[in-house]
Amino acid sequence: MGNILIKNAQIITMNKQEDIIQGDIRIKDNIIIEIGTGLAPQGDEKVIDATNRTVIPGFIQTHIHLCQTLFRGKGDDLELMDWLRKRIWPLEAAHDEESVYYSAMLGIGELITSGTTTIVDMETVHHTDFAFQAIARSGIRALSGKVMMDQKNTDVPDALQEDTLSSLQESVDLLEKWNGYGGDRIQYAFSPRFVISCTEPLLREVRDLSARYGVKVHTHASENLGEIEIVQAMTGMRNVVYLDHLGLANERLILAHCVWLDEEEHRILHDRGVHVSHCPGSNLKLASGVADIPEMLKGQISLSLGADGAPCNNNLDMFNEMRLAALIQKPLHGPTTMDARSVFRMATIGGARAVGMEDSIGSIEVGKKADLAILNLYNFHTFPSYDVDPISRIVYSATRADVETTIVDGEILMERGILKTVDKEIVLHEANLSIKRLLSRTALA
Ligand SMILES: [Zn+2]
Repeated sequence: MGNILIKNAQIITMNKQEDIIQGDIRIKDNIIIEIGTGLAPQGDEKVIDATNRTVIPGFIQTHIHLCQTLFRGKGDDLELMDWLRKRIWPLEAAHDEESVYYSAMLGIGELITSGTTTIVDMETVHHTDFAFQAIARSGIRALSGKVMMDQKNTDVPDALQEDTLSSLQESVDLLEKWNGYGGDRIQYAFSPRFVISCTEPLLREVRDLSARYGVKVHTHASENLGEIEIVQAMTGMRNVVYLDHLGLANERLILAHCVWLDEEEHRILHDRGVHVSHCPGSNLKLASGVADIPEMLKGQISLSLGADGAPCNNNLDMFNEMRLAALIQKPLHGPTTMDARSVFRMATIGGARAVGMEDSIGSIEVGKKADLAILNLYNFHTFPSYDVDPISRIVYSATRADVETTIVDGEILMERGILKTVDKEIVLHEANLSIKRLLSRTALA
């Protein structure tokens, strides 16, 4: 954390009025303390010249699996249940401490370089402490948790089978160690994988623990038609109805996907204040479907975006997700659906709302934490800039290569393309060694 003065920037504030201004931002420690024009450097402030640059709130991705980044390219061209049974579960079962660590670092490197400053992350069953170590060292803001899978299932490898009590105990141990690390930069989130993987006693206990500790619950729901058939056979209820029946549907719940919902489920999401993480790239690649986001938007359901995992996307790039979130709805609902601003809100302040931090991140305002990205839109593919909505330029024209500098909690994690906390050479080298060793521990090699 330092004292930083960003000068001469175009600032996309995402404050209530969605003001876009030309000016300077002063950061003291981890807080934005002043926004104005002609601000003079004070004391030991580091000055960043942002002439011809655009400053945005850092992106908030509300559904990520850092533990799967090493599996990029290992799960192509399959549908969800086959993808899980044939690839992802066997691969996750072969993880060790070191592979979880480098999988996380690889993902975090990609996230920081593409302007994402906060993630909601779901890890695998074991070794989650090593993902937290990577998160802590890298400086990214994260809510994370070990995945919970206590439902006996012959499709699941032994290494991912756990009993209810040990699943809960390991989660609470991790929570007590990591929740609140670095101020509130790291938070714990209980992470039952999905209804199919979890027993009812586990889900009920997660409900109580999340209330007791005041932490989020992060899970998947209604991603795929086959999945909801299984849930219906297991519980006699539709997915979201079942979660509501257990008392889990509340403002602490972040639900990834929500592709196949009926009207009653939409109403539950709205009335209970549940947060939906829309993952358009993953939903397209696994052929899961297209979530009815325009209807949820109309119904004022809390919406945000996530890239999901590297093996079902195959990038962790918010620019991709924003573009897809807008474009996939247009053939279905017409060209005015999902305009650039609606999408950009989901990528920033919407994500802040999902993680319960709309008062401290998600926009550039005095008093908020300094989580932001500086883009260089002074380029062929983003010009002309004259009389074009800057948010349209970001959603429809910009790419992750345009991110120059990323700041989280007042700490510069990347400056002019150079990563400060993640050693690119080491992480790329170790990622290859790590996946090679991991594959040798599976029958997939
Ligand atoms: Zn997922």
